[in-house]
Amino acid sequence: MINTAIQVDSGADKFSEALKKLKTHFGEAAFNSWLKHLKLVGYGNGQVEASVPTRFIRDWIEAHYAEEIKSALSAEDSSIHSLDILVRTEIQEKQPPLNDLPQHSNIVDISIRTSAEQLGSPLDPRFTFENFVVGKPNELAHAASQSVAEAKEVNVGSNPLFLYGGVGLGKTHLMHAIAWHIRKNNPERQVVYLSAEKFMYQFIRALRNKDIMSFKEQFRSVDVLMIDDVQFIGGKDSTQEEFFHTFNALIDQNKQLVISADRSPSDLEGIEERIRSRLGWGLVADVNTTTYELRLGILQSKLELLKMEVPKQVLEFLAHRIVSNVRELEGALNKVIAHSNLFGREISLENTQEILQDLLRSNIRTITIEDIKKKVCDRYNIKMSDLNSARRSRSIARPRQIAMYLTKKLTTLSLPEIGRNFGGKDHTTVIHAIKKVEALAKETKELSDDLALLQRILQN
Ligand code: ADP
Ligand code: MG
Repeated sequence: MINTAIQVDSGADKFSEALKKLKTHFGEAAFNSWLKHLKLVGYGNGQVEASVPTRFIRDWIEAHYAEEIKSALSAEDSSIHSLDILVRTEIQEKQPPLNDLPQHSNIVDISIRTSAEQLGSPLDPRFTFENFVVGKPNELAHAASQSVAEAKEVNVGSNPLFLYGGVGLGKTHLMHAIAWHIRKNNPERQVVYLSAEKFMYQFIRALRNKDIMSFKEQFRSVDVLMIDDVQFIGGKDSTQEEFFHTFNALIDQNKQLVISADRSPSDLEGIEERIRSRLGWGLVADVNTTTYELRLGILQSKLELLKMEVPKQVLEFLAHRIVSNVRELEGALNKVIAHSNLFGREISLENTQEILQDLLRSNIRTITIEDIKKKVCDRYNIKMSDLNSARRSRSIARPRQIAMYLTKKLTTLSLPEIGRNFGGKDHTTVIHAIKKVEALAKETKELSDDLALLQRILQN
């Protein structure tokens, strides 16, 4: 350790100046998820030591941000040449050690346990970590889920874990995987998984039966509570209120919460501001739309499970054509296999097209934000990472604005979603970009031709 108080004092300004620049560079979202957790603990002799609350945050920062942090620090103070990130050990104050509990608590535990587990929904045995294929779009959500599943004690920094993303991209799969993992490795911890919808029905039933007290008791005796598709409680005020109380009670007792939704906490509609902001306090991880590589990987892994073989050409065709969500992709594969079993026919590209006729028609290739980014990068000869960066030079900012414009025009993503997909930018930045491109396209033929060409390529 190098932390003498004086050195820390003199380094503090430089450290916070560097953080400020990193915030502009990476954007608000990335900053709030990761970099804001850094606290300066040592400064001097060319070295900086900073701490973060959890091992997970440290690993993630080290893997994704360490180089940039170091450069930002040396830009402030050229003598700095190394950065050490430490994990602050957490003080567990709220939970008494197990052997302090009164002897009879076991009995109470068991009776609460059985009734509380009935509160939950069953877990799908296929939804495990082993069966989850990891790729760029779900890398963060997967790592976060695994870290929560493996944690020996609850980390304040990842509580709640909030997973969000579109339909059929693996949120429920990850939640079940966490539950399976904990049930297997820490059977004494009580895990309850249920949909927000089921939570609401239980709540309404308890109200009707005037049984609210035991409803509260049951939920609050859980160690890990997972509520899926929480967007469902939007607009349902009393359910929301009860959810919030349960949520707070569990967090206060240092119990783990895992929440999923189809959008980020700040985009949840019909949910009170204080609840939305509370949901975003822990670790927020998105599951993005799949890439071609991930879809192909998922198909291959399903075939391994089924111990089946399907021509490569057919797999590539499916991965290319069925892009909307993984559930549909699996459905298509199953249909092709079932068909071939039933009629004893070899699987070929031709009969695949025939079998999936209807599905393919309804699945007319939707354009993804990635397609757009890729084509824009190709056209203007810039790097994908430039599009997500905060760089403002014209040669980068203009293509970025064009990509945002095309995303608004050709996909169903909302303005905040578009902002997020370009390195965590604000929706006002997106609005500005769209207006700018529209105005410029009216003035210059070159740009309007470019836009038309890009659209043609993308819609092909
Ligand atoms: P969501 O809850 O996000 O709507 P699900 O978790 O129900 O989506 O996933 C839909 C289907 O796709 C499930 O059968 C799931 O196993 C599968 N799936 C999604 N992502 C993956 C993945 N990365 N690897 C393997 N299977 C996946
Ligand atoms: Mg789901």
